Amino acid sequence: INSKLPEVSTTIFTVMSQLAHKHNALNLSQGFPNFEASPELIDLVTRGMQNGYNQYAPMPGSLSLREIITKKTNSLYGSHYHPETDITITSGATQAIFTIISAFIHPGDEVIIFKPAYDSYEPSIKLYGGTIVPIQLTAPDFSIDWQEVASKITSKTKMIIINTPHNPSGSILSKEDMLQLEKLMKNTDIILLSDEVYEHIIFDDQKHQSAALFPGLAERAFITASFGKTFHTTGWKMGYCLAPKELMAEFRKVHQFNVFSSSHPMQYALAEYLKVPEHYLSLPGFYQQKRDFFLSMIKNSRFKFIPASGTYFQVLDYSAITDESDIAFAERLTKEHKIASIPVSVFNLNQKDDKVLRFCFAKTEDTLKRAAEILCEI
Ligand code: PMP
Ligand code: GLN
Repeated sequence: INSKLPEVSTTIFTVMSQLAHKHNALNLSQGFPNFEASPELIDLVTRGMQNGYNQYAPMPGSLSLREIITKKTNSLYGSHYHPETDITITSGATQAIFTIISAFIHPGDEVIIFKPAYDSYEPSIKLYGGTIVPIQLTAPDFSIDWQEVASKITSKTKMIIINTPHNPSGSILSKEDMLQLEKLMKNTDIILLSDEVYEHIIFDDQKHQSAALFPGLAERAFITASFGKTFHTTGWKMGYCLAPKELMAEFRKVHQFNVFSSSHPMQYALAEYLKVPEHYLSLPGFYQQKRDFFLSMIKNSRFKFIPASGTYFQVLDYSAITDESDIAFAERLTKEHKIASIPVSVFNLNQKDDKVLRFCFAKTEDTLKRAAEILCEI
């Protein structure tokens, strides 16, 4: 086989979840909640099915869902997304990201990404012949040096991918970061892919700096979002993307042949559920409580940390415990101590090993307590 992705193996999320299962370990690796979604939301899916939403949804998504999302986005960020032309409902953010890349990247185009990066970006870029221009961010704060970014922009730069709040580090971009990026993108044709799947999971009263807040970014940006993250339904694979209509028209040219449309009864349910803003506005408090609970219980352990600013991931530095590689240590923790995490080096440039592991705290108090007890013994 003449593989198009010779260097790609099974994603770390599958590897670690399988290892956790095999060794009967607490699974704080792959990012998903171990508690149920709201019964009300689940009932709405049934209602959608009973009400006849069982055939294809419109290609860009059901209009009522597009209307309520654009209304929410415009009121949160002062943007002007139009439900008819500037939004498409997708089968998860992963599909949106893949489709954006496939619609715009020609062979030889350069795409700037920040490492550690969510692992779907790079294979998608490579499949379309794009050249990855990586910029390594460094623990513990994972901040971006915009001068370095400026030095990496060339006439071939087609796209920049940012992710805030950031998986895996839990860091966020500030208003100043976004203004710097806006300045860099001025007078260029660069497209911004702003992966904002954790937009509602942000802590300590900080404000999510969406690309939608910055007109100079929004006019060239795709913003991706995931209902899996926001409504504890990662298994539904529902998400969407926003962009100005000229960009979205190109997106839809691919989307219509990629999936055509996404699950109709779920779109019905999500449109109804989104009518209550509290359903997403309660998320910062909900997850901050979990973060604080988890961190308060491991504060006397040998792991070091800076509390995550957003996402439901906490990065823990284990350099005081062992000099094993993060991959070896994550494996040993799973097999011997029965707790699974994600070694961050797999997302880094040249697998740079900062001796940090990522733990998902989208878990019940009971699971977090048991996890903390294990971590305190190590
Ligand atoms: N981007 C980031 C940064 C993620 O962590 C994830 C994983 N949930 C996704 C995109 C994909 O989201 P979805 O599950 O909706 O495909
Ligand atoms: N986004 C999730 C994580 O970071 C996993 C997504 C996946 O399994 N592909 O853990």
